Formats: sequence, structure tokens, C-alpha cells
Amino acid sequence: MSSPFSSYDCESDGTWSGPPNGFSYFPKGSFPESHAYQFIPLGQSRTVWIATPPDRECTLSVVDPANTFGGIAIETEAARTVGGLFDVFTLKPMSTTAFALRAAAEATRIFVLSTPGSAERPTFYVDGGGVITIHYSVSVVLRDCSLSLIYSEGALLNLLSEVESIYARQANIRLVRVGPIHKLEFRGMSLGPQIITDGPQGEAIRDHITAAGRGHLKNLVYGWDFETKPKPQNASDLSSGLAGGNVAFIDWGNPAMVTVHEFGHLIGLPDRPKGDVTIMQPTRSMRKFIGFDGFQIEMIRRVGRLLP
Ligand SMILES: [Zn+2]
Repeated sequence: MSSPFSSYDCESDGTWSGPPNGFSYFPKGSFPESHAYQFIPLGQSRTVWIATPPDRECTLSVVDPANTFGGIAIETEAARTVGGLFDVFTLKPMSTTAFALRAAAEATRIFVLSTPGSAERPTFYVDGGGVITIHYSVSVVLRDCSLSLIYSEGALLNLLSEVESIYARQANIRLVRVGPIHKLEFRGMSLGPQIITDGPQGEAIRDHITAAGRGHLKNLVYGWDFETKPKPQNASDLSSGLAGGNVAFIDWGNPAMVTVHEFGHLIGLPDRPKGDVTIMQPTRSMRKFIGFDGFQIEMIRRVGRLLP
């Protein structure tokens, strides 16, 4: 059975043709093993269409586990029965029903699609939540004594605004840049063709961040070919970003998705193994959009709330 939830521009390989408007990824065809997830910013609505099979009636039970009555209001034309913490909607065979979901409070609702009399696992989660603000700062290594970066401030500002919009649309997290873009020049020292972030070059860059009073922020540092240690001579250059503590190093010229991924590390997300389709899978597509999944969105919102 394919997913009963409409997934708009979601491709079968899990990528999207553009950032989904609040939806986190759920793979087509994997229903019900993989749960769909929808985050709705407070005060906003999202509409979910649910399709039923041709041969049988279905019920959609909606559970309100935290008793936040009205926290996520549901408007639909489907027949509704209310029973305690459950709302049960009856869906005719071969129909597609719209559910307009409006977030009025921090709330979670769990949707279970089943045939009458059968019990099934949750198939769809919806969270509503307010804005969480995370402050960050940006530095660019422009040059050392021998190398200089071909740098465009306009290109970087475009990239940062794309990153900010992805976090806002998917998780209602507002990334706020503090201060100007700091341009770092190390004219008296060589950082090398590869900047080793766990060596003295990385230390010099970190000292700069700390000296500027930005050590407590989430820091993005752009430069050329960051590496953790010298690579073997003929190893291919796979790494495009590195993150540890409050600092992420990102090779200049990468698409915004690399920064989204590294920023994810800064706010608590680990890499995901090969085969997982999320932005936290290191061999993520560079061309198309891949989002966070529901668990990751809950995690970064939890971490984001604790930050100064
Ligand atoms: Zn990673």
C-alpha cells in the first residue's frame, strides 16, 4: 500500500524538487513502516489530503496524547465522532479527504489510519510549535600568506538566507546572524592548501572566533578545503564540511544544503547511516532538497530551546 498522504513534489528516492512547506520527509511507498511527520508553526495551517483504498471504508483516529484540546484544530468535511482523547473520522472507499490543521498551541497529535475494527500503528504525526531563535555568527577565511579565496559576499548572503529559510519552514527555528561577516586574513602564516581543523591552523581560526567574543554562538567558518588530518596522497576529496563543538567549517562553493547539514551537527544531530534519506546522511544529494525527519525536528527544537 502506498502512502495515503499526499506528498506533493516528493520523488520516490526521497528528494524533493523544492523545500517542502513544513513537511519533513517521508518516503513514498514505505507506508506504514516509516511515519510521516508534519510540523505546523503556531498560528499557521497546513492541509493534508488522505486517500483511501478503492474497496473498503477507513477510519482515521486522531489522538491528543498531551490533552491539548484545540492545540491543533482539525477542519474537515469527513464525519467525526468524538470520544475522550480520540477524534474518529469516517472515510469512504476511494475518496480523498482534506484535513485542514491549524496550530493554536504547542501540541502533538497522532493520526492512525485503519479499517473499522482493526488497530494499526500510528501513521502520521503532527506537531504545532512556536518560534525558537538560535543565534549564530559567520567568519570567512579570505587568505593566508600564499592562498586567497575567490569570495563573493553576495553569494554568501544568498546561501545564508536559503539556510535560514529551510530551518524556518521545516522546524520554525529562526536562525539569527549576530554581527557582520568576519573576514579573517592570516597574512603572516600559511594555513596550507588543506586547512587542518584539528591542527594549529584550526586553532588559529578558533582563537579568532573566541577573541571576537563569539565563542558562545554557533559559528560558521567558510574557507578552502578543510580537513581533519592530512589525507593520503591519492584519496579523493569527499569532505565539504566539518563540525565540532560550536564551530562548523565549510568549504567555500558548496550548496546551502551542506551548511544546513553542518548546522544540524551544531544543534545536536549526528550523521545518519547510508541508506537513510535525510539531510543528515553524509552522501546527501547536492542537487535536490532533502529535509530533516520528524525525530530530527523534535531534537533540534529541544536543543534550540536550551540555548542562550
Ligand atoms: Zn555530517
